[in-house]
Amino acid sequence: MIRELTARDGDLVLDADVCVIGSGAGGAVVAAEIAAAGHRVVVLEQGPHWTSSDFTQREDEMLPKLFEEGGMRQTADGSVLVLQGRNIGGSTVHNLCYAFRTPDPILALWREEHGLEELTPQAMEPSFARVERQLKIKQIHEAELNVLNRKIRDGARALGYSGFVTRHNREGCIGAGYCLLGCSYDAKQSMLVTYIPKADAAGAQIYACARASRIEASGGRAQRVLGQVIDRHGEEGASIEVRANTIVVSAGAVATPDLLLRSGIVPNPQLGANLHLHPSVLLAGFWEEPIHAYRGIPQSYYIDEFIDLEKNPHAGYVLMPISGFPGLSAVNLPGFGSDHFASMQRFAHMGGLLVLLHDRSQGHVAPGSDLARPELHYALRADDAALLAEGMVHCAKVLFAAGARQVVVPYLPEALLLERGDDLAILTRRGVELGKIALASTHPQSTCRMGDDPKHAVVDAFGECFDVSGLFVADMSVFPTSLGAPPQVTTAALADRTAHHILSRLS
Ligand SMILES: Cc1cc2nc3c(=O)[nH]c(=O)nc-3n(C[C@H](O)[C@H](O)[C@H](O)COP(=O)(O)OP(=O)(O)OC[C@H]3O[C@@H](n4cnc5c(N)ncnc54)[C@H](O)[C@@H]3O)c2cc1C
Ligand code: SF4
Repeated sequence: MIRELTARDGDLVLDADVCVIGSGAGGAVVAAEIAAAGHRVVVLEQGPHWTSSDFTQREDEMLPKLFEEGGMRQTADGSVLVLQGRNIGGSTVHNLCYAFRTPDPILALWREEHGLEELTPQAMEPSFARVERQLKIKQIHEAELNVLNRKIRDGARALGYSGFVTRHNREGCIGAGYCLLGCSYDAKQSMLVTYIPKADAAGAQIYACARASRIEASGGRAQRVLGQVIDRHGEEGASIEVRANTIVVSAGAVATPDLLLRSGIVPNPQLGANLHLHPSVLLAGFWEEPIHAYRGIPQSYYIDEFIDLEKNPHAGYVLMPISGFPGLSAVNLPGFGSDHFASMQRFAHMGGLLVLLHDRSQGHVAPGSDLARPELHYALRADDAALLAEGMVHCAKVLFAAGARQVVVPYLPEALLLERGDDLAILTRRGVELGKIALASTHPQSTCRMGDDPKHAVVDAFGECFDVSGLFVADMSVFPTSLGAPPQVTTAALADRTAHHILSRLS
């Protein structure tokens, strides 16, 4: 049963074997696996239950509906935009479908430096296999590359940079290009059309517009979740209580530590710390001819020339093609009045390439004025800033090699316009400083990290809190370090592992 609550609904008191908070890449997997084994599962999801018929392909309508804080969530100093979903299916509903397993060197790092000895590729194999089957993950064919991704591939090849066409979780994709705003064709194999229906079919009770606001424990054991209805119009409603001895928090790497900090049941100084963001900078290229970068599969090529996790699992960066929508692009393009208008008239000629950093920099999450607005603090280390600047140089090189005539670099307050032949060393000279360039994060992580020692970690190798038995975390918060790769499959596979561990206990 999937039920979206409204402000008119009465108080809700429920008993469950397992209560899952959040329905994204972590929560949906836990709910489906445990419900499929016959246990009583209640899912509380703060966002609404939008479906493909709600996805209008209009950014002015969809961004406020699908994203936390209407797509305006930022770090406390306003320097990094942090995008996260808030709806049944979480961020998977609007993500871009790159589907990578956890890189082996990262698993090795987690084993060696965080004591997670069981996290071998062999031990993870059943979880990866189940997730890949359910999400229908497969290789993208070269013929499916859209114009932008083809141009970026050709530019990278011309420069001799290593790159490849990725795997993805799409089935029957018609290349509409609106992934970021939700797929109107149910082709994207997000949690909304995969694990959530599986959980529903298995009898899970899934509540949308149901925000968890507090978790209570008694005698060191998880006891119940308290929450409230906040309906799709933002109106507050009745109270919710779910009594369960197993509680799985899957609210994402910002809301999960916030909720646990507010609940006051996990007295571990690591809680909310170690925030990594995979910060990214997006450079826009302008081609002479229209390239309609917004048509077709938005991201299918991936440049990995500047990351070698075997040699250095701690640092590096990747380059990813990206297209914009008119509103988002207008905000980021330089100039005013007629200059800006002229740039927007060339919207069809524009395509982007972003540099995404495998960051060593860290921040933390702290409770904000209310549950909807946690505080995020993040500082960029000098070596990471230098790597991002180096990555921008390579983005510009690839864009020019791919045929772009001009490249726009999102410095603030005024973007920098580079012409073909300009000296790109200006980017390393100006560098990257928080607040002086537009930075974004779509992968906040590591705020309740996994490990074998409570001095350095919040949860154990199966996601259970050291401080409260029966309280688990299953989302991107548990990554012990920055992942250095697209995270949805790792999140889902670790959640699958947590779910099967819980099942072994329940039975
Ligand atoms: C724009 C974008 C593009 C991306 N592209 C890719 C990609 O191509 N490949 C890839 O691998 N990854 C991608 N990702 C990242 C991927 O989607 C995430 O790694 C993954 O969804 C994280 O899963 P999660 O369970 O940690 O959190 P989420 O999927 O974000 O789910 C958390 C859920 O918890 C809910 N919640 C929060 N607080 C509460 C509360 N108090 N009570 C109840 N519910 C609550 C939220 O509403 C949300 O639905 C992208 C992300 C974004 C934003
Ligand atoms: S590109 Fe494919 S998956 Fe993305 S919105 Fe279009 S049809 Fe859906």
